[in-house]
Amino acid sequence: MFLAVECAVTKRKDVTVFYDERVLHHAPDVNASFLPGRLDKRVRAILAGLNVQWKYPEHPGRIHAILDLLNREAVEGVRFASGKAATREQLARVHTTSYLDDVFALRNKNAWLDVDTTAVSPGSVEAAEVAAGTTIAAVEAVVSGSTDSAFALIRPPGHHAEPVRARGFCLFNNVAVAAAHALAELGCERVLIVDWDAHHGNGTQDIFWADPHVMFFDIHRASPFYPGSGSLQDVGAGLGEGTTVNVPMPGGAGDVAYLRAFNEILVPAAEFFKPDLILVSAGFDAHWYDLALNVSFEGFAAMTGIIQSLADRLCGGRVAFALEGGYNTESLARGMRSVLDVLAGGEVPEPRVCGMDAVEEAIAFHRGAFTEEPSDE
Ligand SMILES: [Zn+2]
Repeated sequence: MFLAVECAVTKRKDVTVFYDERVLHHAPDVNASFLPGRLDKRVRAILAGLNVQWKYPEHPGRIHAILDLLNREAVEGVRFASGKAATREQLARVHTTSYLDDVFALRNKNAWLDVDTTAVSPGSVEAAEVAAGTTIAAVEAVVSGSTDSAFALIRPPGHHAEPVRARGFCLFNNVAVAAAHALAELGCERVLIVDWDAHHGNGTQDIFWADPHVMFFDIHRASPFYPGSGSLQDVGAGLGEGTTVNVPMPGGAGDVAYLRAFNEILVPAAEFFKPDLILVSAGFDAHWYDLALNVSFEGFAAMTGIIQSLADRLCGGRVAFALEGGYNTESLARGMRSVLDVLAGGEVPEPRVCGMDAVEEAIAFHRGAFTEEPSDE
């Protein structure tokens, strides 16, 4: 009996991180000369009004920080595989052909696409094609069973990108492209997307708003926090009514509230929907280092544990993660590592209220300090 317990604890699982270095070639430089136009003038006016030198926050250093940490502190069971570029046909399942024409015309150029800090540099269009295609590669691997789970280490992120519009650092909606591919080509019939990035995934919600084949669960900091969408009442429409599930949170919300939302909303929703594939829009900007919310590394690990157990029970363990936001490079790298550790079979921690361990240590330390008589014990 002890032997069985020991085996359960030490059982490792294969996790494949899909990565293609072409995602590093997306590097907008706010000091570069951009395509002339009204949008450029507006962005210049905004930047000129800032008191500090503004740098593009979604930069290649995010990926370097993750790779450096995984190199220094490797997770047993995690291996790397290369990514690939998405085809125009794959992108066109969720974006309009006119939007794709406009974006492809910016190949090898510097331009602003949106006032919400979405810019392109000469390598950006290819990086965005690779980000979407690498998410497809991750999904193909978990559906074929060649890996237990997968993580697409990509940028630019995707969940703000709408069918007709780039927004909030996003060009193509990577997770949506991968979900649409799973439905069109891989025999999947119901895909659950879990989005725990601090920001609402307006683009993903928009793309699958009336689609009964995709359930979209999004926990995020509530409006007026960017992008301002994702209210409780937004539940989808038409055939997709009920398959959009939003959980808006106040600033500073952390592990305890997040895990309650997962256990009491996500778990029953997933059991009702019965997905045959789970995708996760994994941003790490809900960590308190990014100053919007208060999720800890143990919190990301615990959310991963819940998702993994849903995948094991409902869809043969088929789960693929894709990187979204996260701008503090330390919490980004540590957050992703904590997810990989759980996916690889590591122990799922039970997060505590921040400070509780320190308080208990202090209670023990000061115990007996304020009594009249010293204790006999
Ligand atoms: Zn975000």
